[in-house]
Amino acid sequence: MWELFNPIDFEARALVQNVSGNITSLLEYLVLKMLTGNGIVVEALKMYIVDEMSPSTVASKLGLSKHQIRGYAQRVVEKIGDFRKAFLVISEVYDLLMRIKPIVSNYGHRKICMVCGRELSTSGEDHVKRYHREVVEDYVYSILTILKIRVSKRMASRIHQMANTPSTSSL
Ligand SMILES: [Zn+2]
Repeated sequence: MWELFNPIDFEARALVQNVSGNITSLLEYLVLKMLTGNGIVVEALKMYIVDEMSPSTVASKLGLSKHQIRGYAQRVVEKIGDFRKAFLVISEVYDLLMRIKPIVSNYGHRKICMVCGRELSTSGEDHVKRYHREVVEDYVYSILTILKIRVSKRMASRIHQMANTPSTSSL
């Protein structure tokens, strides 16, 4: 009956409980990409790390280079520790990330911050981090909270399932 426990849930729970500092830093990175209109980076990471597509497949689907995709994946692994943990976090929170609306808009070659109206010269990540830190933190906190709830709900339902499954010895 122990196979009812999915080892992935134990890993995810341990991850959420013990290294939330690293998760926070990874979530911050992903949230910033979404807020600055670079959701394509998050999509690329999901395809590469979670869906296990090759860098060249992801590159051709999204119009990025293989080099960029490896670079993004490397940043993510540096933040969370290893590929496996990156897989767990991204697969759990991808749908939540995709709901984040950008606060930086592109008008042709110009980038405008929708919160303060300033025109931005770079990707906007530095601007958002410096001036709208609370927006980033709110999203990270919400995602982390939902992630914890999801993992513990799954654990609870597996325990429930296990408690209601007759053991093979009694058959
Ligand atoms: Zn702004």
